[in-house]
Amino acid sequence: MNHSAWYNVPAWVRYNFTMPLSRMTCPACGADLAYDSHQAEKGPDGKEMCPYLGRPYSKLRAAHDLIYFGKWRKMDATTTDIRRAYHQIGRHLKAIGEVLGTKDLPAARRDLGKAVEAFQAGDPEGESPDSLRFMDHALSYAHTAIDDLLHEEGLPPHDPMEFSKWYDAVEVPFKEEW
Ligand SMILES: [Zn+2]
Repeated sequence: MNHSAWYNVPAWVRYNFTMPLSRMTCPACGADLAYDSHQAEKGPDGKEMCPYLGRPYSKLRAAHDLIYFGKWRKMDATTTDIRRAYHQIGRHLKAIGEVLGTKDLPAARRDLGKAVEAFQAGDPEGESPDSLRFMDHALSYAHTAIDDLLHEEGLPPHDPMEFSKWYDAVEVPFKEEW
C-alpha cells in the first residue's frame, strides 16, 4: 500500500440532496448522521436505521467517517473546522488504542503508532505548514488500523464511500488512493 499519496485526493464528486436533511445521532454507535428521510431505510418501528447497525466496530467506523467527511477537508475550511477535526482525530486514535489494548495485533499497533506520529506532527497550533497533510495521514493510518481489526475477523475493509450519503458533505472525496 502506498501511503505517500495524499489521503485527501483532489477528485471530487458532488451530491445533490433535496433539502432539508434530517439529522440523528445514533444511540448505539454515536454516528452523527444527516439524511434524506425519503431515502433512508426504515426499521420495523418506522424509524430510520443507522447504516452502521450490525457492523463490527461500528463506533470506530462512524467516528472515522465523521472526520473523513468533515468540513476541515474542504477548500473553505476555517481554522475552527481544522482545530475541531484535530481534536476529533485525537479522540479517534485514543478509541482505536483502547480497542487494540485488548488484542494482540502487532500490525494494527504499528499502524496506530504511525497515526499517532502523524497526529503529533500535524498539530494545527504548531508551526508546520504541512499540518493538514499530517492530519490526513493520521486519519489514513487510523483507517488502516480499523481495517487490520476487520481483517483479523475475516471481514472486508471499511469503505467510507458506502456511507457517504449519510453525511451532509456537498463535496466528498471520491475515492481513496492507497
Ligand atoms: Zn449506529
